[in-house]
Amino acid sequence: MTPRQLALALRDLAVRDGYTELRALRVRVANLRWFTGRTFAATYETGAEIILSPELASQPDDIVGGIVTHEIGHALDFSYPGHWAIRNGEAILYDTAASPASRWWNRGHDAIERMADLIAESVFDVTIRYRGCQLLQSTTAGVRPRPRGL
Ligand SMILES: [Zn+2]
Repeated sequence: MTPRQLALALRDLAVRDGYTELRALRVRVANLRWFTGRTFAATYETGAEIILSPELASQPDDIVGGIVTHEIGHALDFSYPGHWAIRNGEAILYDTAASPASRWWNRGHDAIERMADLIAESVFDVTIRYRGCQLLQSTTAGVRPRPRGL
């Protein structure tokens, strides 16, 4: 399974589980200029598209899984702006906005990144860790939660 096929399979799983806003999510493989160093993927803030680097396919399976699942977490966050809240360490989706839109849009980098992990973990029942010298996402090994400033 390619990284893109994995992303599409996770999207479809989320839609089947009721996260219907994800139905329109597109996943594209492309070389963007900010895909350097440890960056192999990006999700637009509309939640409508994930871009995967062609280089992602050469990473080990646990890292592909960690990165793709994290990006789907961003897509779920961005597709339901302000509707996610953290309760007892789990991300829960609410029918109505859980926080004012202004506060949601003004979250800092660490809050956005950790929320993507929490949503992915809650929706897909995985654990996202950060491993290796580049601290890449992994579904099997490494530190958790995501180190600040990463
Ligand atoms: Zn991220």
